[in-house]
Amino acid sequence: MSATIEETGAPAREPVLEDALTQLRDAIELLGLDESMHALLAAPRREVSVSVPLRRDDGTVEVFRGHRVQHNFSRGPSKGGLRYSPDVSLDEVRALAMWMTWKCALLDVPYGGAKGGVRVDPRQLSTSELERLTRRYTSELSPVLGPATDIPAPDIGTDEQTMAWMMDTYSVNQGQTTLGVVTGKPVSLGGSLGRASATSAGVVHVLLAALPGVGLEAEGASIAVQGFGKVGRGAARLLHDAGARVVAVADQYGGVFAEGGLDVPALEDWVDATGSVVDFPGAEVLEGNDAIITLDVDVLVPAAVEGVIHSGNAEQVRARLVVEGANGPTSSDADAILESRGVTVVPDILANAGGVVVSYFEWVQANQAYWWSSADVDERLRTKMIGAWERVSRHGADLGVSLRRAAMSLAVGRVAEAHRVRGLYP
Ligand code: GLU
Repeated sequence: MSATIEETGAPAREPVLEDALTQLRDAIELLGLDESMHALLAAPRREVSVSVPLRRDDGTVEVFRGHRVQHNFSRGPSKGGLRYSPDVSLDEVRALAMWMTWKCALLDVPYGGAKGGVRVDPRQLSTSELERLTRRYTSELSPVLGPATDIPAPDIGTDEQTMAWMMDTYSVNQGQTTLGVVTGKPVSLGGSLGRASATSAGVVHVLLAALPGVGLEAEGASIAVQGFGKVGRGAARLLHDAGARVVAVADQYGGVFAEGGLDVPALEDWVDATGSVVDFPGAEVLEGNDAIITLDVDVLVPAAVEGVIHSGNAEQVRARLVVEGANGPTSSDADAILESRGVTVVPDILANAGGVVVSYFEWVQANQAYWWSSADVDERLRTKMIGAWERVSRHGADLGVSLRRAAMSLAVGRVAEAHRVRGLYP
């Protein structure tokens, strides 16, 4: 008996995993693949959940829950970020791991997909507590990590310092320095030039490429960016530098708006000084969480978390183009609403793939112990992103389907084909 899709998730799946499974089902139908391939691709290959006990600075011990889901290895070792957030759940990690599989396949980097998460608010921990948490999580997961097995990277709440601790912990346990076990490391420790800005740069490459299709050009287009972290901040800056009008930016604390365009470099200085975009001098306040989503702009870049465009606000989205800097920012219901309203959505597995593309470059460099120039990295990233954009938009036009359907069918088709030619063993 083959496993059924129903057996793959928790009894009541969280909406984010429902969305990921809906997208997969859709791609399976579009590709005409059978139910056994569907079952195979819906089920994560391996899930590891661990307790992460942490000795706090005050001497007490607190136990956090951590996960690593390795969704697929058909095209290579699994790859994907590690998230520290109070919202982390096993279902969320499952969905994010699945999206990594499709993202890597779509960009044709030789990986499967994985994701890790610890349910913790990193802002509540000191640096030494974060270090102990990271090292314990890495030790617990070490048996299933490795440069040819599963390669973590930063995601929400983690950064290059987290990756340095992970690399060190894994290496000490192995008895040899293993640079290729994680990506997104500091440049001083085998990181790649251009990795820190890679996701933002990738978002901007595809955004600029998508503008003509919706009758816009960079010069003057009004853009709203939700999220001012690793993805949104760099994207806002690069868009500003490209002559676009970044009129609104929001972070988890609030949003700011300026009709004529925000002075993004000054906003960056403000955020460095205060920790948030809130109260940025000279800008108007955006009231409420949905304000940035429903703002009257040409382009919306959701670059924060999942599910921010949902059935409750999708009718009010006024942008002509949505470019998904975050993973899973649009629910499946909202996706259908946006499509019926003629809003073009550049899907996450394409739009935010710049990060994992340069992660792949970092891994290649680490494995060869030979380092590329930043011009080299930037040009290779641009070539990959534009190549994928062209393939997806052409495929979408050929089939008469949305960019998400086109991207998903290309990606799922590649993974299914890799699985088919490998065959089932034993
Ligand atoms: N966390 C990033 C993502 O969601 C990067 C993953 C990676 O570089 O492995 O794509």
